Amino acid sequence: RLQQRIHGTTLEINLNALTHNYNFYKTLISPKTKVMVMVKAFAYGGGALEIANQIQTMGADYLGVAFSDEGVALRKQGIKLPIMVLNAMQESFGLCSEFDLEPVVFSPEFFESLASWCTVHHTSMRIHLDIDTGMHRLGFERKHLDKLKILIQSNPQVEIASIYTHLVGADEEIHREFSLSQLKSFEEMKNEVLTVLRYNPLIHVLNSAGIAAFPEFQFDMVRLGIGLYGVEVTGKHELALRAISTLKTTISQIKELESGETIGYSRRGVMPSGGKIATLAIGYADGYDRRFSNGKGYVLINGQKAFIIGNVCMDMCMVDVSGIDVKEGDEAIIYGENISLKELADQIGTIPYELLTNISTRVKRVYY
Ligand code: PLP
Repeated sequence: RLQQRIHGTTLEINLNALTHNYNFYKTLISPKTKVMVMVKAFAYGGGALEIANQIQTMGADYLGVAFSDEGVALRKQGIKLPIMVLNAMQESFGLCSEFDLEPVVFSPEFFESLASWCTVHHTSMRIHLDIDTGMHRLGFERKHLDKLKILIQSNPQVEIASIYTHLVGADEEIHREFSLSQLKSFEEMKNEVLTVLRYNPLIHVLNSAGIAAFPEFQFDMVRLGIGLYGVEVTGKHELALRAISTLKTTISQIKELESGETIGYSRRGVMPSGGKIATLAIGYADGYDRRFSNGKGYVLINGQKAFIIGNVCMDMCMVDVSGIDVKEGDEAIIYGENISLKELADQIGTIPYELLTNISTRVKRVYY
């Protein structure tokens, strides 16, 4: 509460809800299946260190980050779990080695470069192989497999910790057939790679939606992201999850306006009839999307919906509070238990992932 008094806006993170969601996903998978928790992008806005600490205590098996420096920050703050780095830059191999991070390798060229780095530095490295089965983002294609097998055989200093692929549409029923074709290609391609290995790397495919839609393909590990943070993207287990984050702000001022008066930049907001507006201490620099301007977004004030009026400014925005019992200093909930992130995201043509990861660092995270 004190944080909110100082800055105006806070992102409250409920670690009990996080534990609840983690335990829920554990009920969908076999007790033997390992869990990698994706803590990239500041743990989807929730705070990488605090989330990583919590899930380390809860017995998760792996962490996933996008870039090496995200992993370095976790290591420097005492996180001990193995960390996979999805998109490690070649210039960061030194950091990966020093901080025990495990880069993803996605092409023969990348493999060669990493293998020679290891040779030059008289060291070995644990890596993960990304197989492209249809995402067409990163990953080995079928045509690369012969080369990959030779590289694996001739570079024992490169240890294959896991082989994985990523589903492009596990959250949508219309892509079910495509997902199944990805799974089939993955089976074939990873089996081919396995022919040259004398040990068993972990095999993994499923993200949160995948766990809900294809639990029969959980292999050795799943990669849990958005579901842990309380958003169920398939609609299958929506009620089972709890929102972990509540974004709250404060009403700085209330004004009475007459019919026809305009609000904010470019005079986009117009008071339809006499009423009152409240100015909130949150703007697009906090990650409150400007596309919520003029009626696209709403907040909850004392349990009632108040719609954005006018353009969202950098540090503030205004809501129509005509007819709402409200006073300066009151709290406004941007999202949380009673405002669905999916619904909000739909309003501005985006996805909950973007809303969560956009909350800027100047918004203080408060854990309870
Ligand atoms: N695996 C990979 C390779 C990813 O890029 C991501 C996130 O984008 C995830 C797993 C987690 O996905 P989700 O947040 O949908 O569970």
